[in-house]
Amino acid sequence: MTQRSDPENPLHRLDDWEEFVEQRYPVPAQKAREDYRNYDNPARATVREFYRLNHRHQTYDFVRHKKQDFLRLGRRRMTVLEALDFLDTLVDDSDPDISLSQREHLLQSAEAVRADGHEDWFVLTGLIHDLGKVLCLFGEPQWAVVGDTFPVGCAFSDRVVYPEFFADNPDSRDPNLRSLCGVYREGCGLRQLHLSWGHDEYLYHVVKDHLPEPALYMIRYHSFYAAHKERGYEHLMSEHDQEMFAWVRAFNPYDLYSKAAARPDVAALKPFYEELIAEFFSATLAW
Ligand code: FE
Ligand code: FE
Repeated sequence: MTQRSDPENPLHRLDDWEEFVEQRYPVPAQKAREDYRNYDNPARATVREFYRLNHRHQTYDFVRHKKQDFLRLGRRRMTVLEALDFLDTLVDDSDPDISLSQREHLLQSAEAVRADGHEDWFVLTGLIHDLGKVLCLFGEPQWAVVGDTFPVGCAFSDRVVYPEFFADNPDSRDPNLRSLCGVYREGCGLRQLHLSWGHDEYLYHVVKDHLPEPALYMIRYHSFYAAHKERGYEHLMSEHDQEMFAWVRAFNPYDLYSKAAARPDVAALKPFYEELIAEFFSATLAW
């Protein structure tokens, strides 16, 4: 899918968003070097345009409509391995020599979790956490698949990246939706909220009956940087959310900083991951 000239899909590659996040939250020791790279990065204009669309169109109504549609999980049935293969048919407009495929990113995340000796479910979470990006292959625009997530139905926080673009979101002029808690109650817990629609929420619903709760938090909130990095939206979180966010934070480095120079050997790793998948997912999943 060549996206360069599509105004609805400004990113040349989906990963331009993730690389932007990585530069925004660099490993501390790398900060100076990363800042320099960030300053010089031609992908930045497309990321900005991407957020302009995302913040304008992710409204309370939009999110509820997408949930009604996609969370029936009636698109197709796929195993996890089939979903990995399917996601890999997503061809971004990028140089294959320098960028990793989605499958390679997932394998590198999982391998980094495994190298640190974490439990099976955590390794598996690394492997699958971005499978919700198959939404792109169902024809969804980039701004409804990737990007930092944030609650809709209440005031937008200025801890979300590019908060100025929320001025174009019609919800910011709706008195019911623009107060601090909006349609929610203080301390009600994240499960009561609608977050902007994308690959996190979608995959959570696909796998929610199969994985332990910390894994589900990692999957559902890994793009909620305004909360897990910037500590915003705490007035809506429960004590239980705060406890579980230790897991979301534990997962984040494996997502952001696991990109290794060497490409993973997909064929050599396959038997291990086939067995791991079979441990948690017995059959095909509804997508
Ligand atoms: Fe992701
Ligand atoms: Fe990821």
